[in-house]
Amino acid sequence: MALTETSAHPTRYEGLTAPPYAQTGNIAGATAEEWVRAAIKPRGAPSLMGGPFERVHVFWLAGMSCDGCSIAVLGATAPAVESLLTGTIPGVPLLLLHHTALQVEAGEAYMEPMRKAAEGTLGEAYVVVYEGSIANEDKLEAGYWSAIGEEVSASGEKVQVPSAIWLRRLAPKAAAVMAIGTCATWGGVPAAINNATGSMSVGDWLGPQYRSALGLPVVNIPGCAPIGDNFTETVAVTLLFLQGIGPAPELDELGRPAWLFGETVHRGCTRAGYYEEGTFAKKFGDKECLVELGCWGPVVQCNITSRGAINHMGGCMNVGGSCIGCTMPGFPDKFTPFYKAPPGLLVSGTGSKLLGSFVRPLRLITQRKLNREVRWDRGGNGMPGGWGADLSTSTFDRVTDKFYDFLRHRGAHGTTKKAG
Ligand code: SF4
Repeated sequence: MALTETSAHPTRYEGLTAPPYAQTGNIAGATAEEWVRAAIKPRGAPSLMGGPFERVHVFWLAGMSCDGCSIAVLGATAPAVESLLTGTIPGVPLLLLHHTALQVEAGEAYMEPMRKAAEGTLGEAYVVVYEGSIANEDKLEAGYWSAIGEEVSASGEKVQVPSAIWLRRLAPKAAAVMAIGTCATWGGVPAAINNATGSMSVGDWLGPQYRSALGLPVVNIPGCAPIGDNFTETVAVTLLFLQGIGPAPELDELGRPAWLFGETVHRGCTRAGYYEEGTFAKKFGDKECLVELGCWGPVVQCNITSRGAINHMGGCMNVGGSCIGCTMPGFPDKFTPFYKAPPGLLVSGTGSKLLGSFVRPLRLITQRKLNREVRWDRGGNGMPGGWGADLSTSTFDRVTDKFYDFLRHRGAHGTTKKAG
């Protein structure tokens, strides 16, 4: 509308009313002030974010495990274990961790909260985290495979209680049961074919009907070792959901956090460009794609290449190792022998090589053109500094440049065309 002397403009903003109040897109449902207050609230004060939990116990049980999962989680940075244990993440309740390797208490002092939780007299919410696979203790007539604490039988005999039995005792009243690492999520190395222990996953041990007290099936965070951040992030997201503050964590059909395990290793790999151009490493230490040396990245669901191992650093292919499928239920049996090219390479690798043999030279031509300033092409003074770049253009260069520019400008309008 044109501006005129007689415009109603001076009165346009009189008598207006505000639209209905809505927190558009604010899934937390909290104001910025509430977030800040929650972040600085004094320890032990009621949660300013609301939610039923002020603090949550975490019973960390270990089965057939190497403790690698614990080590991985201690290195997490987003969020860090320290943030979870000090209750400094707004809305996330303070975590009271009961972990055999990290606990100050020992003996019965260590066992007491666990016994109370199993009896239902703890008086506070708890989550169970299980590390390591579960040996089939039901089939054992004497002894145990892995145990936590001692109890006395009616005949006075001291009995070590398997961690798998503790899991059965604790799981029904737990707000959530989380399996960490491939041993706990799928069975892993201890459950490999011909093992003597009958090892299995947490989900297999508790059965398909299992639901936590709040209705959750087992949450699975695989990896051998898992990415620590994958675990702490899932814990924080799950707790925000249980608090009624955050959305329900999206889990896939195997109970994995879908936003962490929905993509393949290959899609985030820094070497994927080499695969696309059909250029493969011949030995470890080469910079190209490692598929011919036995990388299963194109089909393995894991975010190690994009997230790194710790603090966005490291992680298999980023540091020269090939993917052996450690996050997958089929690991290790379906990925052996390790360091041998996967059968699928026959088709996809041959396709990449064929396509690459055509695409790579074309890209080199384009690259040579883009490494020259427009002024240099027009016969200017040449590149300053004397690095020795060959700025001469052959007839072939000039013809391909013309054709390339024709394609580049096709369908473009106005100044874009002139700028070329
Ligand atoms: Fe894909 Fe593995 Fe090659 Fe990376 S190294 S591009 S994950 S096949």
